[in-house]
Amino acid sequence: MDCIFCKIIAGEIPSYKVYEDDKTLAFLDIRPVNPGHTLVIPKAHAKNIFDVSPEDWAAVTESARIIAAAIEKGVNADGVNVMMNNREHAGQLVDHAHVHLIPRFKGDGLKLWPQKPYPEGEAESTAEKIRNALT
Ligand code: AMP
Ligand code: ZN
Repeated sequence: MDCIFCKIIAGEIPSYKVYEDDKTLAFLDIRPVNPGHTLVIPKAHAKNIFDVSPEDWAAVTESARIIAAAIEKGVNADGVNVMMNNREHAGQLVDHAHVHLIPRFKGDGLKLWPQKPYPEGEAESTAEKIRNALT
């Protein structure tokens, strides 16, 4: 399979590894938002959050919890964003599931997504659509 992150797991291409256990690997993002920006991935190839197994997702999120604290301490950050892009139109460029851990610094100027209020009635109908999809 031609997957760049599987090649990193296999050691076929280099990475700056920061953490590894039996189910997950974490390494520095090569083009960081801020120094210390880290990617946490399942070792078993999965395309995205829709594809990853519950066990591997649990392992990834637990690794993310541990590493977020290490990043904040290690690079003396003022906070950490946890983010994930799933599918092309959500900004996913590498089709091996990965969670971004982005250290944040007071005044670093990074703007997150713009938000807006719901038009009248749309919050209830939207919540209903999601509740229905769960059943
Ligand atoms: P996404 O847009 O969520 O798919 O993010 C993919 C991320 O992978 C980007 O932030 C890239 O900078 C990062 N990336 C791509 N290739 C490598 C690599 N060889 N080593 C480390 N990070 C990489
Ligand atoms: Zn892969």
